[in-house]
Amino acid sequence: MSGRTHVLIPAGIAAILFDSDPLLVLTAGIAGLVPDIDEPYSVIGQRLWFLAWWIKYLCGHRTMSHSLLMVGVVSVLGLLVLIPPVYVCAIAIGLGSHLVLDGLSGGVQLWWPSKQRWVIGQYPIYGTTDRLLMVGGMLLFLVSWWSRMQSVVSPQ
Ligand SMILES: [Zn+2]
Repeated sequence: MSGRTHVLIPAGIAAILFDSDPLLVLTAGIAGLVPDIDEPYSVIGQRLWFLAWWIKYLCGHRTMSHSLLMVGVVSVLGLLVLIPPVYVCAIAIGLGSHLVLDGLSGGVQLWWPSKQRWVIGQYPIYGTTDRLLMVGGMLLFLVSWWSRMQSVVSPQ
């Protein structure tokens, strides 16, 4: 899926789960971009091109950085360096949602180093499904934000 969708879906999920906490929403949204560090033309790959080219050369696209092993390793490392668990959870939401979204658009090597691809669908990266998911992410965020504003305006 597109970079926008990789940001908005985890940001929307985090908004719902963490009561629109801006730092947690931002953390989940940014983490949603990280697996594409293996693609030099992606949003994050263009900024960290020196790393993206090496990872793509060594592992290929949608392999190591798009696996459950990566989600687990990043989460454990986050806890080991004493990142608060709620932020590790937001990071895992971003990384995990990326795997599902790319599973919808051709698949990922979810069980890397196994080369077997996990494919949910073959929807185009910039097609109608991508736009609908992007709008869904925005709606999740707006519903959560509206709910939070209601509790601020009329506390019970
Ligand atoms: Zn990806």
